[in-house]
Amino acid sequence: LADRLQGLDRPTVWHEFSPLAAQHQAINLGQGYPEEDPPAFVQNAMHAAVYQRNANQYARSAAHMPLAHVLADDYNSKLQRTDIVAETHIATAVGCTHALYCALMGLIQARDEVILLEPAFDIYSSQVQMAGGKAVYVPLRPSSDASGASDYFQLDLEEFERAITPQTKAFILNTPHNPTGKIFSQTELEGIAEIVRKHPRITVIADEVYEYLVFDKTKEPHVPMASLLWDQTLTLSSAGKTFSCTGWKVGWAVGPPHLVQAVTAVQQWVTFSAPTVNQDAIAQALVQARQPYQGLPSYYDYLADDYHQKQQLLVEALQAAGMTPIVPAGGFFIMADTSAIEFPYPSMEKTPAMPVTPMPRDWALSRWMTQTVGVTAIPPSAFYSPENVPLAQNLLRFAYCKNAETLQEAHRRFAAYF
Ligand code: PMP
Ligand code: GLN
Repeated sequence: LADRLQGLDRPTVWHEFSPLAAQHQAINLGQGYPEEDPPAFVQNAMHAAVYQRNANQYARSAAHMPLAHVLADDYNSKLQRTDIVAETHIATAVGCTHALYCALMGLIQARDEVILLEPAFDIYSSQVQMAGGKAVYVPLRPSSDASGASDYFQLDLEEFERAITPQTKAFILNTPHNPTGKIFSQTELEGIAEIVRKHPRITVIADEVYEYLVFDKTKEPHVPMASLLWDQTLTLSSAGKTFSCTGWKVGWAVGPPHLVQAVTAVQQWVTFSAPTVNQDAIAQALVQARQPYQGLPSYYDYLADDYHQKQQLLVEALQAAGMTPIVPAGGFFIMADTSAIEFPYPSMEKTPAMPVTPMPRDWALSRWMTQTVGVTAIPPSAFYSPENVPLAQNLLRFAYCKNAETLQEAHRRFAAYF
């Protein structure tokens, strides 16, 4: 295999825990994908795209125009701009994952550095490596007197600034954040923007795929990084979480043309274009989503309310197991403190998906919980570089993008065992 895959030709955490959950008939609160189908208006949009809208041949390479137009409208309104243009400021891709891959391939030269905040969604460091860059890690530090995930996981701005070197080319910022559910506040983002502005060569790649899963818009709103640092920000997002269609893989990049061009220049040689029918359906879904839905002002309000209720069910389930949930402000995951749980910890066991010995405690705990209690979580050590794996040892990540019955069954199993 090519050198660029060094250390990456191994199974991932997803390969280990979803099959393990299936093998033990465990409730799988590990991998984050919605258990619900997309809402009817989204399914209907796909049906119309296939049968009525003639969207079955190659799309325009940079972006299918109907989707690019809707995204340009949405982002002009979200960022209070008027200059975002469908033809030049929008690229679409096969999910946010592919948009990120194209962005990194288009921006990163050999040995350029990319700053990641840990814990970080596991594709970031692997994609940086494949693009020939070097990931530089800045861990979010736990704060003991925090009331929720946003203040529990703290970014030390001085530590962030010290991580910047003449080789730093990009910084990946994820808000709302996977796996913690932290939403970066306006003040934190302004602090980051102030530092990044001093280094015009740095691009902030803002992964905002959970932008609509925000629970208290007055207290902890989602602030798009591009609203504070437009010229240096490439915003990435996708439809999977918003419309419960992670398998459709429709993602996009929005920003000033010189950054969007990095994505389109790569994309035209890799996939040429993203699937037309999926893009067409999402274009229609995005228009519909602005309308009143189930008695609420828009589908987005319904979505946030629905997830907030699911979050409460999972909080209660985790408490029944003696865990302390670090309550998220956004997204669909909860990090829980598991220090109170005692279990036989086979620290010398090995697994190809986690090349660190001894086996991290969180990894062993998730295996044990799957086998013994019948509930599966993701060990967050998968989201840390080897040196910072100890920061994850007393944490587990649980997903609540599941039906109420599934979350209640997890609760029953926890209550019966602990
Ligand atoms: N970014 C984050 C933070 C994620 O959690 C995920 C996982 N679903 C993705 C990107 C991938 O998004 P997509 O499915 O659109 O590729
Ligand atoms: N983003 C989802 C998660 O964090 C799914 C990841 C994946 O399937 N690669 O659980």
